Amino acid sequence: MAVRICPHCKTEITAANVAAYSDRVECPQCKTRLEVAPGARTLSSFFGLAAAAIAWRLSSNSGGNLSGVLPTLYAFLAFGIVSPLVLMFTASLRNASALPVPEPVPVAGGHGGAHH
Ligand SMILES: [Zn+2]
Repeated sequence: MAVRICPHCKTEITAANVAAYSDRVECPQCKTRLEVAPGARTLSSFFGLAAAAIAWRLSSNSGGNLSGVLPTLYAFLAFGIVSPLVLMFTASLRNASALPVPEPVPVAGGHGGAHH
């Protein structure tokens, strides 16, 4: 069972938790909002697509009357199973609040143009 570690308080967060919320997780211990590093999402999508392509290729080679429907179904299932699995095992958490928040810059000065 892959376990993620909260970067803030080192609490273990189960991978199932991470995969369920996919990009936003709250640490059960310190309530820090965490997010899955973007690279992991891309990687899991990539592997999901690869698995879908393989499943599609395998099932369409088998032929048969349902060859028009089954490959799509298998590809869909493969993506749905593989992608979250890869995410579970590859995802690394980072502190969501560590992201720089752009502050709204107040518009300075300027004449209103209105007469008294
Ligand atoms: Zn924590």
